[in-house]
Amino acid sequence: MSPTNNWPSPIPVYSDQIPADPPDVQVVTSGGQRIPAHRSVLASASPVLESMINRPRNHRSSSPPTVRILGVPCKAVAVFLRFLSAAKCREEDLDKYGIHLLVLSHAFLVTQLKQICSKALTERLTIDNVIDMLQLARLCDAPSLHLRCMKLIFNNVKSVEKTEGWKFVQDHDPFLELQVLQFINELQLRKKRRRRHIHEQSLYSQLSEAMECLEHICAEGCTSVGPCDVEPTKDRGPCGKFATCEGLQLLIRHFATCRKRVGGGGCSRCNRMWQLFRLHSSICDQPVFCRVPLCRQFKMKAQEEKKGGGGGGDDERWKLLVRKVVSARAMSSLSLPKRKKELEEDHESTRDDISIILELEA
Ligand SMILES: [Zn+2]
Ligand SMILES: [Zn+2]
Ligand SMILES: [Zn+2]
Repeated sequence: MSPTNNWPSPIPVYSDQIPADPPDVQVVTSGGQRIPAHRSVLASASPVLESMINRPRNHRSSSPPTVRILGVPCKAVAVFLRFLSAAKCREEDLDKYGIHLLVLSHAFLVTQLKQICSKALTERLTIDNVIDMLQLARLCDAPSLHLRCMKLIFNNVKSVEKTEGWKFVQDHDPFLELQVLQFINELQLRKKRRRRHIHEQSLYSQLSEAMECLEHICAEGCTSVGPCDVEPTKDRGPCGKFATCEGLQLLIRHFATCRKRVGGGGCSRCNRMWQLFRLHSSICDQPVFCRVPLCRQFKMKAQEEKKGGGGGGDDERWKLLVRKVVSARAMSSLSLPKRKKELEEDHESTRDDISIILELEA
């Protein structure tokens, strides 16, 4: 098609906000079609188009300047130009030309359109198109679309693996394949850590509840165990935390009478009770009048060890466990949102201690 001076307009470009002046530039698209446009509009919407328009030309001054936008359907270019003038894009255009518009907005640095397209394509993601969209997102540097693609793949790995797109990537794009697999691996690990963490938090709050029950049993007594100077009352009903309290009472009764403990033969239940007394002593803030058995003894022992410069790895682990239980107690009384940072800190190191102490009544 030869250049014409009478500005034929085979494709309607502007729906509104048309500048009053006649078009002064022609956009040449694939297939040689020409779309009249306004230089001022193109230049203000895209720095890339601006530099293309302002490039020195060899043409005679009478011939209108042209800008080439090739490689995408002519209608997509028309929609693109319409956006540059009206800053709007219809949903049906995004349905048909979303991919092309993303490429154009990326190539010509039209940020607003790029965001619109990225969002529109995200909303149109399917298992069948997700690999194509992932490649497109990478090509056009669209991080939000890229992330959404990865997440969709992660949540539908089995189905995505059956698509043609994935087979193509496996055969021709090992780098992208590796990137996807790494992402999946990373997210799986994160989920695992999160689950483990939630599990541990529940263990810490169980321990914190056990501490509350221990204090309540030793101070006022519950259904079957109470302080020696208080007569057990048979008609006392179960307390509010009876599930934990009952197990603890059984354990205390066992501890009081176990022969293996007395004989020093080692008893796992007594050992658990022993650890619970020690844990209580570590978090107990009653300086003198604590009614929990062994509280004072443990405190004195801890002070002696402190003087003697004791400690070491085991001691550090115990301190960490104490901190976690104290914080679980504070959380449960204040119902504060859990602090992520603290939760992530060293959460592996106390697991053994917890497993020894928990299961009050195995
Ligand atoms: Zn109770
Ligand atoms: Zn025992
Ligand atoms: Zn105490």
